Amino acid sequence: MEPSVKAIFLDRDGTLNRNTQYLIDFEQFELIAGVVPALHILKNLGFKFFIVSNQSGVARGLFTYADVERLHLKIAAHMDALGIHFEEFAFCPHHPQGKVPEFTQVCECRKPKPGMLRYLVGKHGIDLSESLMVGDMEHDAQTGINAGCRGVWIRPTGVQRPNALLDKAENIKEFVSLLDFAESLRDAMGITHPVDGKIR
Ligand SMILES: [Zn+2]
Repeated sequence: MEPSVKAIFLDRDGTLNRNTQYLIDFEQFELIAGVVPALHILKNLGFKFFIVSNQSGVARGLFTYADVERLHLKIAAHMDALGIHFEEFAFCPHHPQGKVPEFTQVCECRKPKPGMLRYLVGKHGIDLSESLMVGDMEHDAQTGINAGCRGVWIRPTGVQRPNALLDKAENIKEFVSLLDFAESLRDAMGITHPVDGKIR
């Protein structure tokens, strides 16, 4: 069967929720303003959502692999209640300089390596040519490029671009917020306007 799923691979901390450094307690989980309406726009464009997150806190011994899975179950339930379903939460528990031997390694999944995207693509029948990796870090966008899809960098106004080479990268697009990205994509796809039925 031809891969047909259009995916948004979404970074977690700093993109979905406010980055609170090694988040593990759901009480500290706080959605970034505008993210939910943005995800509804993307859902209406036919995308399915996958979280792709580096969680080196596992390798550093700050929390366990099971702790991260428990947090993700709570985030999933919270988002489902808001009408946004995540098909899967992929995360990399590794770090080359960790403290927990089992997870201390140079792996193939830590972003910007494409291992997590490759895993999701194979498992879910994702069409990379229709998919995008979205995140608040340059390496998120780069992960998308490395996997063979497009990369989107949510770079808030005033944050300096650390790598001038990105200016030349045609497959990386920058936006100031997830909502800005979602509205731009909707406009670019010429979706019928729900109010008057006209193609914009
Ligand atoms: Zn890894």
